[in-house]
Amino acid sequence: MPTRLESVSSDDIATCVGCGLCLPHCPTFRATGEEALSPRGRVAIMKEVNDGALILDRDSVGFLDTCIQCRACEPACPSGVPYGRMIESAKSDLARSYVVTPRWIRVGLGLLGHPALLRATRPLLALGQRLHLVPRRFGLAPLPWRNEPRLRGVDGDPDVWIFTGCVMDVWQRETHRAVADLAGRVGLSYGVPDAHGSCCGALHTHAGLHDSSVRRAELTMSSMPGDAPIIVDSAGCGAAMKEYGSILGTDEARLFSARVVDAVEWLAELMDRSDLAAALAPVSSYRPTVVIQDPCHHRHVQKVHGSTRRVLRDRADVLELADDGLCCGAGGAYSLVHPDLAEVVRARKVEAIRSTTADRGEVVVASANPGCSMFLAAAGLRVRHPVDIVRDSLVDGPTRTGAEHG
Ligand code: SF4
Ligand code: SF4
Repeated sequence: MPTRLESVSSDDIATCVGCGLCLPHCPTFRATGEEALSPRGRVAIMKEVNDGALILDRDSVGFLDTCIQCRACEPACPSGVPYGRMIESAKSDLARSYVVTPRWIRVGLGLLGHPALLRATRPLLALGQRLHLVPRRFGLAPLPWRNEPRLRGVDGDPDVWIFTGCVMDVWQRETHRAVADLAGRVGLSYGVPDAHGSCCGALHTHAGLHDSSVRRAELTMSSMPGDAPIIVDSAGCGAAMKEYGSILGTDEARLFSARVVDAVEWLAELMDRSDLAAALAPVSSYRPTVVIQDPCHHRHVQKVHGSTRRVLRDRADVLELADDGLCCGAGGAYSLVHPDLAEVVRARKVEAIRSTTADRGEVVVASANPGCSMFLAAAGLRVRHPVDIVRDSLVDGPTRTGAEHG
């Protein structure tokens, strides 16, 4: 067990004035009512440990490790406490000593950099689900047997890159195809990363595996050269790639991060261009009722949740949740490591969704993050990516061509 959290900056700790305004925004505090499971409580633990007033033991490590890293506390904080950076540093110190992030999670995360191996898990998992061999705590919605064909980008310099990544390319590839279809409709060629870009490292950062996340960032950057925009349709991946500049601290990483654009952000900009409005205008007679679930890394980190509304408003009846963007509990590998707390947090989200959509007939949850969509679908909700909903609206008739989970 380490004695200090070496990587957590004392200057960062000092920014917290203990006002408590973050508490109502914290899903683990809301679920438990425990101060130690709040942002203020966790910052206090970091301070006391580094001041020598508290030892790192099973309890104090547990309070830090049960943070979902949703970062809802950041925009709520009037003092600008860089909580995301602090908890990532703390997790990294703890993971280095193997007191958080169990070995089986590390093995699983290691798989993400091996797309062929990862692809092989898909039929195995689908079979395991049908035989009821996959533990419920994995929170996986039923996987279809077959995957869409892989995207084939152009040779040479594309107009845009579509980041295909790891989990999404195995389990939600249909959404990549929707992005590719939309790029084609507005006359853009696209490229896809080579094998080096098979995983952005977001889940490694979340798990405190700093060295692995740096390595994954470097490989991802090398996989999409040039200066074309990089479209990312996973909220967590996009957030991580936009932070490469601060993680690596190099000009190259900062330039790369500046090229990253979330898929809804990209689409919203296209829709606001008068020359492209006709190409993206809805033609379908099917107008779904949609309730938006903002992934935390869309709302609190990338702050692109307004774009989700922009791209859906012309083609869906949009319902809003009254829970101020509260986390769903998925949190990278969080729901695997802390299944009980994740389930309590998810139950609040599901209740918010069900009470908002009661008496509205058939409703789809729009979610732009693979972890959230699988975790919510496993609770019995119908979930789709906003990009899939947009693509369907461009096809005449009540079609559902994209991925649907749940
Ligand atoms: S809102 Fe910010 S300053 Fe106030 S207790 Fe929370 S982290 Fe500390
Ligand atoms: S990141 Fe989320 S779970 Fe962690 S302390 Fe902040 S609000 Fe709570």
